[in-house]
Amino acid sequence: MVSSTNEKSVVYGACPHDCPDTCSMLVTVEKGRAVKVEGHPDHPYTRGTLCGKVSDYLDRVYSPDRILYPMRRVGQKGSGQFEQISWDAALDEIASRFKQIINDYGSEAIMPSSYLGHEGLLNGLTVGDAFFNRLGSTIAERTFCISCTSTAYLMTYGPTHGTDPDTFSHSQYIILWGCNALSTNVHLWPFIQEARKNGAKLVVIDPVRTRTAQQADWHIPVRPGTDSALALGMMNVIINENLIDADYVEKYTVGYEELKQRVNEYPPEQVAEITGIPVEDIVTLAREYAITQPSVIRIGVALEKQAGGGQGVRAICCLPGLVGAWRHLGGGMLQAPMWPFPIRGEVVHRPNFIKPGTRVVNQWQLGRALTGELALDPPIKALFVYNCNPVTQSAEQDKIVAGLAREDLFTVVSEQFMTDTADYADIVLPSTTQIENLDLMFSWGHTYVTLNVPAIAPLGEAIPNTELFRRLAARMGFDDECFKLSDEELAMEVLDWSAPVMQNMDMDLLKQQGYAKLDVNLVPHAEGNFPTPSGKCEFLSSMKVDSNYVVPVFRQGYEEYPPGEPIDPLPTYTPQRESVQSNPELANRYPLSLLSAKPHQFINSCFANLPKHLKLQGEPKVIINPEDALKRGIVEGQIVKVFNDRGAFQVPAKVSDITRPGVVVAPLGYWRKLSHAGNTINAATAATFADMGHAAAVGDSLVEVALVS
Ligand code: SF4
Repeated sequence: MVSSTNEKSVVYGACPHDCPDTCSMLVTVEKGRAVKVEGHPDHPYTRGTLCGKVSDYLDRVYSPDRILYPMRRVGQKGSGQFEQISWDAALDEIASRFKQIINDYGSEAIMPSSYLGHEGLLNGLTVGDAFFNRLGSTIAERTFCISCTSTAYLMTYGPTHGTDPDTFSHSQYIILWGCNALSTNVHLWPFIQEARKNGAKLVVIDPVRTRTAQQADWHIPVRPGTDSALALGMMNVIINENLIDADYVEKYTVGYEELKQRVNEYPPEQVAEITGIPVEDIVTLAREYAITQPSVIRIGVALEKQAGGGQGVRAICCLPGLVGAWRHLGGGMLQAPMWPFPIRGEVVHRPNFIKPGTRVVNQWQLGRALTGELALDPPIKALFVYNCNPVTQSAEQDKIVAGLAREDLFTVVSEQFMTDTADYADIVLPSTTQIENLDLMFSWGHTYVTLNVPAIAPLGEAIPNTELFRRLAARMGFDDECFKLSDEELAMEVLDWSAPVMQNMDMDLLKQQGYAKLDVNLVPHAEGNFPTPSGKCEFLSSMKVDSNYVVPVFRQGYEEYPPGEPIDPLPTYTPQRESVQSNPELANRYPLSLLSAKPHQFINSCFANLPKHLKLQGEPKVIINPEDALKRGIVEGQIVKVFNDRGAFQVPAKVSDITRPGVVVAPLGYWRKLSHAGNTINAATAATFADMGHAAAVGDSLVEVALVS
């Protein structure tokens, strides 16, 4: 607690949303009611500011639309008609339906559905794992985000935090690659601006001239899915013009000769054909990047969302090793610096409960799982949704809705608001917001642990996710000790407080200042020391993974996976699955590449129901290049249909050259029931995987756009 009087107290909070910044907050409470949420001014990285999404967090907490009591469905599925019931009645019904389903079909007929609707170590991604692993449910693979990027990064560098974002101000050449930092990583921006004041150049590589690209010194509008070719072409120039850091390469890398042979397959002229970037720009970029040190690359999540996304990240990862960028403060690469957080997998997942051979179903294919398109035996008979909203956030929206409408599917949704998914629930459970519960936060964007202290009592009968699973475990008769731990006890269990990176921190310090930095090296690889099998940067990877490998954190801690296709240990370029090169017939019918963009005012589907955020964001639009619009007789503001064989959605057109010809961009996160003609972008996205980590290949989707007659 920061301060307290009889009338007023200020407590430490932490933003729970799916964002790399994990802001430290101060929450002011007067007479039991929170009256102000603001950024913690002392936090060295988030520096006292919250983004526009969360600065009005109390509108969310005290929204009249909050779910505050358990409810049972009384109308048709999807009708949104519910009656209030007691917690006892809700838990009894869930337990009795689960027991009946287990008796009739086996425990794998129950499937959880969850993601990063909350990022806390207590209430977030892993909060239900112990319960569902103990239950013996289907394991829900959750690879919506960074599972592919992480695999590629680990193959090259191992689990290192890489370049600490706190040091970006020391960089002289910054590449934001597939990262719209001004909307999705806003607290990195001041560090970039400091670097620019000191003479740094900012380059943004992105098919779209995003808000960030508009602010850059140089925007490179690469074709979607061709980033690996661009990185391989850069390496071709760097190697053939002898711009490598030969000493660094010799001492601290492996596989240079093999990489050299591989990049010779990608001369700039050929790369220009693939990427749509002129030869002279490829050459200039390569030269500037190699010569200007310290150079740093911040990669975004979007890179992985293609058939060849993993190898794209692998190729980009090789660049800093080649030019010795790691030697310098502020040089190297930033992926997701979460790897040093000493999270105790045996506690957060309880993988000891998992029976070998337990079925795994990927949530990106939830629609196929629920409709029977995936041949599952037993079929999914119960779905338990928490921390996510699959109707808007998963692919093949029409299939998900059809599956949720099944009368024989028992669906439970724990939520703060009546989302598109909650509308289809049989039982809805009320969940707390962050200022109503305790949590401890890691970050995938910086290297601070942040404490979130409950500021107010839970509203209505809302409970934290931790308490939800304690209650469910008790109702199911699970008497394991792990289901009896209080939140305070869990907070002491989920991290290894004795790990070397924690040597300067304990719970007392977190209570005193709200956050504490891991004890990480700010120039971690000046002399190699990569946590790979070889101890070096691996251009030629020795990590034994194949296309089915998924980092266990993304699959309830389960480490077994069936053999898949071998992954080339050298980076390479793979064309998009839906492209002229790979499928000319499809590309003839659906010639436009569809990209999804995160709106500035929403975080995934969070905040997309709140009036202020909807007003600020405006209605959803599809951005189409003037050339493509002209061909189709489309003018600004007309309602168009964006469609392919999977489905369709309707939105007004925004005609703009911020997107390349051949590429259309639509926003992700708008609620289906609040959208024109009742569908959103995920009606048209593909439920296919990238080449690594079963990542959602959402950016590998072709569509056509036509006027609605
Ligand atoms: S969404 Fe991100 S930037 Fe906004 S307050 Fe939360 S952590 Fe900070």
